[in-house]
Amino acid sequence: MKLKEILESFKPFKKRLFFQAYFDLNNHSFSDFTNFSKSERNLMEHHLHFQVFKKETIFESKKGDTFKALLETYDGLKIETVLMENARGAYTICVSSQVGCAMGCTFCATGTMGLKRNLEFIEILAQYRFWSKFIKNRRLDKEILNVVFMGMGEPLANYLNVRETLNVWIDLKLLGPTRITVSTVGVLPALQRILVDPLWPNVRIAISLHSADSRKRKEIVPTTVARFHQKLIDWSRAYFKKFSSNRLRVTFEYTLIDGVNDSLEHAKELANYILQFGKAKLNVIPLNAVPGQAFEPSQKENINLFKNKVLHMGVDVTQRKTMGEDINAACGQLALNN
Ligand code: SF4
Repeated sequence: MKLKEILESFKPFKKRLFFQAYFDLNNHSFSDFTNFSKSERNLMEHHLHFQVFKKETIFESKKGDTFKALLETYDGLKIETVLMENARGAYTICVSSQVGCAMGCTFCATGTMGLKRNLEFIEILAQYRFWSKFIKNRRLDKEILNVVFMGMGEPLANYLNVRETLNVWIDLKLLGPTRITVSTVGVLPALQRILVDPLWPNVRIAISLHSADSRKRKEIVPTTVARFHQKLIDWSRAYFKKFSSNRLRVTFEYTLIDGVNDSLEHAKELANYILQFGKAKLNVIPLNAVPGQAFEPSQKENINLFKNKVLHMGVDVTQRKTMGEDINAACGQLALNN
């Protein structure tokens, strides 16, 4: 039996009790779930692993501001999750949603692995507990304030398990919806599904754009469909209509790759595109180079010129700090190399 089937066998209110008990760091096994009967606890112990991952290896950056964990599943696969200090002096965690990824973005280490499988709902959920426990054990003085789905995998390709995870975190008030960002390469059928799905929470959506030009984007993100950019504009109008919160906006992620998408012409084209979205933000990310791949990060000077250009054209732009380069920060690097 999987977790979902076990939860369905309980009375409905027990589902919430289960998650409350699971995220209580004083509980170390299912036998500590004292709100459950002995037979219910036996059922959990028989079918589930309280320690969701078989092996957990943690890497710490020299500066001590980033921790990366390689987590091994019971079927012998490896995923990554990251804990990093953010600009507000708290922690952001970056979680994985799949083992590997089918999207094949050409600059990405995970993309070279192909898709091994979707993560189970509990395997996504557990990444939050894993870092909470780590913070407690290490007596770190910051709390987790944000979660980003920017680890291994395309979260919208594992839609139901990601949705379920989001709803548990939000329901338990571990995080508010605007503290969670689901970063997608732009899987349009799934984005459309969000618009009509009453169970999809109003979390932030970040689109990994990487180019405002279709042909160029297809070279970087091979899954780019025809008329992708226009379809995304149409989608965003419907999205803002559905979730009319002032705190909501679409964020664009733009990985800057030397000589590929980082010229002033690219910046101008990008700004003209983004300005059509109204409530939008741009996050530029210097590429985390993956050894053996042809791409290099943009030069510092070019990054600044690029940012200034879009800024002067009226785009709200920030630059993501590259962190933990000494611990294979690029998504998928640890899983590939260990
Ligand atoms: S960048 Fe994201 S969507 Fe693209 S291959 Fe890597 S993990 Fe998949």
